Amino acid sequence: MSKTIFELSVPGRKGITLPPRDPDIPLNEIIPQELLREKPARIPELSEIDVMRHFIPLSQKNHCIEKGLYPLGSCTMKYNPKLHESLVRYPSFQNLHPLQPESTLQGTLQILYELQNDLAEISGLDKVSLQPAAGAQGEFTGIRIIFAYHRAKGNTHKNKIIIPDSAHGTNPASCALVGYEVVELKSDSRGRCDLAHLKSIVNENTAGFMLTNPNTLGLFEDQIEEIASIIHSVDGLMYLDGANLNALMGLVKPGEIGFDLMHFNLHKTFATPHGGGGPGSGPVGVIAKLAPFLPVPLIGKNEDGYFFDYSHKQSSIGKVHTFYGNVAVMLRAYFYIITLGAEGLRQVAENAIINANYLMALIKDYYHIQYPDHCMHEFVADSTWQKKEYGVSTLDIAKRLLDKGFHAPTVYFPLIVPEAMMIEPTETESKDSLDAFASAMIEIAQECKENPELLHSAPLTTPVRRVDDVRAVKMLDTSFPLED
Ligand SMILES: *Cc1c(COP(=O)(O)O)cnc(C)c1O
Repeated sequence: MSKTIFELSVPGRKGITLPPRDPDIPLNEIIPQELLREKPARIPELSEIDVMRHFIPLSQKNHCIEKGLYPLGSCTMKYNPKLHESLVRYPSFQNLHPLQPESTLQGTLQILYELQNDLAEISGLDKVSLQPAAGAQGEFTGIRIIFAYHRAKGNTHKNKIIIPDSAHGTNPASCALVGYEVVELKSDSRGRCDLAHLKSIVNENTAGFMLTNPNTLGLFEDQIEEIASIIHSVDGLMYLDGANLNALMGLVKPGEIGFDLMHFNLHKTFATPHGGGGPGSGPVGVIAKLAPFLPVPLIGKNEDGYFFDYSHKQSSIGKVHTFYGNVAVMLRAYFYIITLGAEGLRQVAENAIINANYLMALIKDYYHIQYPDHCMHEFVADSTWQKKEYGVSTLDIAKRLLDKGFHAPTVYFPLIVPEAMMIEPTETESKDSLDAFASAMIEIAQECKENPELLHSAPLTTPVRRVDDVRAVKMLDTSFPLED
């Protein structure tokens, strides 16, 4: 382990020089006596270059997309253009204040207005609210809209939402938070919704159906129109978890294949590098009959210009975020969309699909693939062969990939595939980098045969070896023990 910044401290060493304090300013009149320190704070004493040499190598110990492929399935960890990062830092965006009068915000409001329309166009839906802060909050907002729709119609008996067993964990959580009971739908042998099972569980109590398409196996739900007609026949609503829109945009409009509402993950599909837990954005799009329930305000436009539109305040579910949501993420999404244009967005989806299929073809003889159909932007391989023959698990393989300079895929998800490895290379990887990743996977398959022990002890080259994930989450301790 490298030393902590406290251990590097040298008494008296300084990084900055402050002007001497004006002795005419009496400190204890500005700061009340009881709040003044009695002893100097124990903070590390270092020069600026000491600090840089501590933090820069630390930052480089973490994996990031700038260092190598990051095939974290469903998360769409693609490389995002730095151009959009620098545009969003323009002072005219950076210095905005949410309480500024509308008349001084016209440029930004125009961008947000156009982004609402662009997302409506891309999705084939009628109205979009940009407010939710992430995919999960988009789901929650969408399910509340479903609830508000049924309540407005007096459909109080509708208390169930159907969700496939391959769904992301946030889906049932969002429904439960709104107060719905979740009914689990089985997948069939092709990894799609089991229609016979669906028919047996749909009834008058069905408020809606929440589907990810392409689903988390990376497969397109090809019976979508039939599913939509079954759900609509009981006045249920079709919700799309749009986290996988990277595979659809420009190719399929969700509103045209039966969906009534959806969320977008701007931080997966439209720029904004994510993964560090930073801000995201999960706008929600709806068909016209659900528009009255969208959060307030939307961005409107009239003869005087752009404005915050509260006109549907009475029917709206209310606000789901302070002010207007994560505007900086929206700006990046807008720049991404207008830079690429319609044709460019379509190419993103096509290349994401080609890359995933190419990679699947390269490794399919070495790893079991439970649903070996043509995939969309991702596919799920697994290590059941390796587990059975050599006692090597998906966790071992994921850890070994770190030694080879790659981030691991999403592992043990979806839950319906034992020892799952969900691989999403994204459109920004070249053939060379896909080849290199496939070679690493194939080398690891070979190592499983020859030296399973090596796999159990991986990773060997990372600064920290296997961490206790549960302890790290439950007992996170980021402080440095100081004796005073
Ligand atoms: C990422 C993801 C979500 C949740 O989105 P967040 O922005 O992380 O809250 C939901 N469903 C699927 C399929 C996802 O991949």
